[in-house]
Amino acid sequence: MNTQTLSVQDLARLDELQKNIENARDNFLGYPVSKDFDYSEIAHFLQYPINNLGDPFEDGTYKVQTHELEKEVVAFFAKLFRANPNDYWGYVTNGGSESNLYGLYLARELFSNAMVYYSETTHYSVKKNIQLLNIPSIVIRSQPNGEIDYEDFENTVRLNRHKPAIVLATFGTTMKEAKDDVSRLRAILRNLAIQDCYIHCDAALSGTYGAFMEPRLPFDFFDGADSISISGHKFIGSPIPCGVIITKRSNRDRISKGVSYIGSLDTTITGSRNGHSPLFLWYALKKMNVEGLRNRYLKSLEVAEYCEMRLRAIGVAAWRNPNALTVVFPKTSAEIKLKWQLATEGDIAHIICMPNVTKEQIDNFIEDMEKSVLVEEDAFEFSF
Ligand SMILES: *Cc1c(COP(=O)(O)O)cnc(C)c1O
Repeated sequence: MNTQTLSVQDLARLDELQKNIENARDNFLGYPVSKDFDYSEIAHFLQYPINNLGDPFEDGTYKVQTHELEKEVVAFFAKLFRANPNDYWGYVTNGGSESNLYGLYLARELFSNAMVYYSETTHYSVKKNIQLLNIPSIVIRSQPNGEIDYEDFENTVRLNRHKPAIVLATFGTTMKEAKDDVSRLRAILRNLAIQDCYIHCDAALSGTYGAFMEPRLPFDFFDGADSISISGHKFIGSPIPCGVIITKRSNRDRISKGVSYIGSLDTTITGSRNGHSPLFLWYALKKMNVEGLRNRYLKSLEVAEYCEMRLRAIGVAAWRNPNALTVVFPKTSAEIKLKWQLATEGDIAHIICMPNVTKEQIDNFIEDMEKSVLVEEDAFEFSF
């Protein structure tokens, strides 16, 4: 490659960029992204043109790939999600959105003429995916805590019982981290005698730690899901956004098409696929394992409880869904929102206590909140 060295100005721009990124990273509480990872031990793999083209479970022609590790990542989550050990499949995606697209694609290929049911609080990627796939859909009401309204679900499906049902359940909604009960949705479908049905569980946010919740909330294959999405860059953390889709192998087999050019099956959404992400995820899982993930969750849960308690102590009406790492509270002043990069929707804001969030950070945030609550009270008095 014909290259030249970067100019002084360009080098300065890179320095500036790094400073900005570092500063932004250190001061956000509102988005579900872990930042406590260290992949330096495998950083040298960045010098290879890794491409996981094709199906990870088939031998392709292109060998600069990480399929073996990708399969281990898929197997890890299939086991954690209690899939049938003889009937699972999956791959590492570009994120939860692609994983959702895959689940819906699979469901549509299995059941033409189906209707998709999803709740008001479903992630925005789902609506777009349904549009891309051109499947008719109906929005189901959500309860105030963000969980699907089971009664509305039952009544709506009853009206359309002549059609196959594809249900998009969410395990950890974006704003309130509400979890739809997959067993209960499955039972409703059974009671209505809907034979052709499929439940995709969007567990992008909470799936990675769902197995460690006590009491357990139903979301996995054993509970009645047909496919599950997770994001890899949220709870685990990764320099590159990524996700995983886990499905039943038998379902995938019904839609796979062979492609001779790649010597593999074209079972994935994109052709060329990121081969570094599976490597990062594999490394993180080897370092943490199931016990490490469990401890990571329990520690985060403690921080979330602490955050909720501290907010309540200064008079802020904070609350959490059961087992959630997300603390919900009324939206804050613009200043605090900006400083802590708090995601806001309507009149609520939240803090997501991902593993990197510490009690010290919560203390600093509370200090800001306390000041701002005082300012608001002053303003209130002035208005009289
Ligand atoms: C984050 C998230 C997604 C999208 O995942 P990406 O990895 O950002 O593509 C989908 N659904 C839910 C519930 C999420 O939290």
